[in-house]
Amino acid sequence: MNTVADAVTTDAVTTAPRDEAFFAALAQPGVQRLRAYDPGHDLVAWRRRFQDRMLVELGSNENPYGASPAARAAMLDVMHELHRYPDPLGGDLKRALATKHGVDTTQLLLGNGSHELLMQFAQVFAGPGSDVVASQYGFAVYALAAQCAGAALRLAPALPRTHAMARGHDIDALAAAITPATRLLYVANPNNPTGTWFDADAFAAFMQRVPGDVLVVVDEAYAEFADAPDYASALALLGAHPNLIVTRTFSKAYALAGLRVGYAVAHPGLIAVMERVRESFNVNMVGLAAAEAALDDDAHLQWSLARNAEQRAVLAEAFRARGWFVHPAQTNFLLVEFGPDTPQIEASLLQQGVVVRPMGGYGLPECLRITVGDEGENRRLLQALDATR
Ligand SMILES: *Cc1c(COP(=O)(O)O)cnc(C)c1O
Repeated sequence: MNTVADAVTTDAVTTAPRDEAFFAALAQPGVQRLRAYDPGHDLVAWRRRFQDRMLVELGSNENPYGASPAARAAMLDVMHELHRYPDPLGGDLKRALATKHGVDTTQLLLGNGSHELLMQFAQVFAGPGSDVVASQYGFAVYALAAQCAGAALRLAPALPRTHAMARGHDIDALAAAITPATRLLYVANPNNPTGTWFDADAFAAFMQRVPGDVLVVVDEAYAEFADAPDYASALALLGAHPNLIVTRTFSKAYALAGLRVGYAVAHPGLIAVMERVRESFNVNMVGLAAAEAALDDDAHLQWSLARNAEQRAVLAEAFRARGWFVHPAQTNFLLVEFGPDTPQIEASLLQQGVVVRPMGGYGLPECLRITVGDEGENRRLLQALDATR
């Protein structure tokens, strides 16, 4: 008799309830300990509830100014081709990106959002017995990626609240957290959820300290929004450090979050290894067309960035004037410390149709992460906040 059939028909198994725990026990070890990504509120349900007044959505760092009109036109142009598969090479988009960043197309990897790539780096380069380094108050996906791959996560402490870069990444602590078992290190610049960034010179010095067999993923999802004089993209260091990976996305500054297009820039050899696991048609045809057109419309991007910078300053000042601490930010969101009343403030905002992001899951229960909206959205946010106090 078949031993596999014997094993699955034992009494203990047939009488066990078919709940999540039952199936989790069948999963690989990394997944057994995993908790699914928390997407926040059920936005579709809240939109329905506030359909007459319009929900103000400031929880997901989306761009309120929308995508380039050229990108919208490019999407419509491919509608008659949707019975075809998309270009599995993403050739046109890669050539446009290569020109923009001054790199070779072989240094580019396209993803179904950068989220997909962040997960896959751990699947490919980390695993049981290895560890992955990230920072306290770092993006939640890094921990998820490490756990999913079965690797151990080592968290470096962030800078203290009293530091000028309050709760930002401590680059020295990150370097110190690297062990002989470390395969991968994730760091966002600027960071989500703090909005902080690190100094270009400090990062260059950090890269000198990282062993060549530790891959450093610099997540630059918010790079376009950064205008501080001491900020610099890690793209400039790619030539000097073959272990460096930079990820970018079309979800934030380019306002194409709904289409799911992101990319990584790295050494051609590293990209070639990643290509072995990439799903052939991971970026859809509409996304490829829209991203290429959006990249070409720099005027729209600059217009949208300028409005964000202006509203970011106005909103930060409005919070400070009301006595709340605002973390220094180079992003399209602000991390604001409201103190012990934070859960009540968040609940009150939601009841008034304003969605922001609670930070309890990040170990910051006294803070809310608030996307910088357009002028009208920010006004409604502040009115709702004032009605709360
Ligand atoms: C929004 C965000 C991303 C982008 O995710 P996509 O999958 O490209 O939409 C990546 N990293 C961070 C830190 C983010 O906040």
